[in-house]
Amino acid sequence: MKNPIYVTQPYLPPLEEFMPYLEEIWANKILTNGGPFHQQLEQALCDYLGVKHICLFTNGTIALVTALQALRITGEVITTPYSFVATAHSLLWNGIKPVFVDVDPNTLNLDPAKIETAITPQTTAIMPVHCYGHPCDVDAIQKIADNYNLRVIYDAAHAFGVQCHCGSVLNHGDLSVLSFHATKVFNTFEGGAIICPDAKTKLRIDQLKNFGFVDETTVVAPGINGKMSEINAAFGMLQLKHIDAALARRKEIDATYREQLQGIKGIRCLKDAGEKVANYSYFPILVEADYPLSRDDLYQKLKDHGIFARRYFYPLITDFPMYRGLPSAHRDNLPVATVAAQKVICLPIYPALTQADQQRVIDRIAEH
Ligand SMILES: *Cc1c(COP(=O)(O)O)cnc(C)c1O
Repeated sequence: MKNPIYVTQPYLPPLEEFMPYLEEIWANKILTNGGPFHQQLEQALCDYLGVKHICLFTNGTIALVTALQALRITGEVITTPYSFVATAHSLLWNGIKPVFVDVDPNTLNLDPAKIETAITPQTTAIMPVHCYGHPCDVDAIQKIADNYNLRVIYDAAHAFGVQCHCGSVLNHGDLSVLSFHATKVFNTFEGGAIICPDAKTKLRIDQLKNFGFVDETTVVAPGINGKMSEINAAFGMLQLKHIDAALARRKEIDATYREQLQGIKGIRCLKDAGEKVANYSYFPILVEADYPLSRDDLYQKLKDHGIFARRYFYPLITDFPMYRGLPSAHRDNLPVATVAAQKVICLPIYPALTQADQQRVIDRIAEH
């Protein structure tokens, strides 16, 4: 069989470019606990992303868990079933009840029109996801939050570098959480971050990710160990040098898919998020009823040809055993998400994907 093509491939700069960073760590012997690379990466990311404050984390999931702790969220939180399971898991780890609300059919993001009816006296926050890096309707969500005095924590794991009508989408809500996992657009092997608007909140988050210590002998909260190591932070500094080229190549791949798939009956691409905003982190297609194969048959066919696409997000979070008993997890409450999860396939997209390999993917989908 020809070389396998995966849905994504982590971006790795040439190894020799990383060696000077390692030599520096070996020389100064600071391995973690907010060392020099950690400080450099926080500053560099604030500049690159256009945000005020950032707290680096060991991964995105611990960052989500800590973001909820930082704002002392309790009770019920409104969220989406159409996401990676860590979104809802972060709520359960805080003893919070997730309340699932359906998504918008065009963006597959939380549908603001459906949020209000899910609000109860126990609701304290909304946790939307910028799914595939497409910005949520941040204004509509903020309006509801303001009306009902709710906090908004964005799971922005897909939204590195995404811009909306007023600058970085990461500046919306009370907090935004990024993931720098190997599969994401910008990676530090494992890693994550919380974007926050003010220095006071940053200080509290920095304490929470360091066991709750405020100084050598004082612990003010039952914090966790969420710190990013120097190796990960150094790798992030190197990645930043390559990120613009990586995003540009993703954009080309996105454009080629859109152009070549548009004539194929039964294959629908999600609407382009727009020139300015996108990071081209995923390329989802929806396999409609008039395509000759079912979604799962197309998925299997691609696999048989060495093309390992992924059905993100199938199953829905609400189909997993720890969620499916909740009243809001019922399919009747989530018709749009249910249908999307049955139709979606995410196609391979990553900077090193060759034109020939992308053509292989397109040809397999087109040949009917
Ligand atoms: C990747 C991802 C996470 C988890 O991030 P990790 O860094 O892997 O812990 C959370 N939410 C969404 C939507 C993700 O895609």
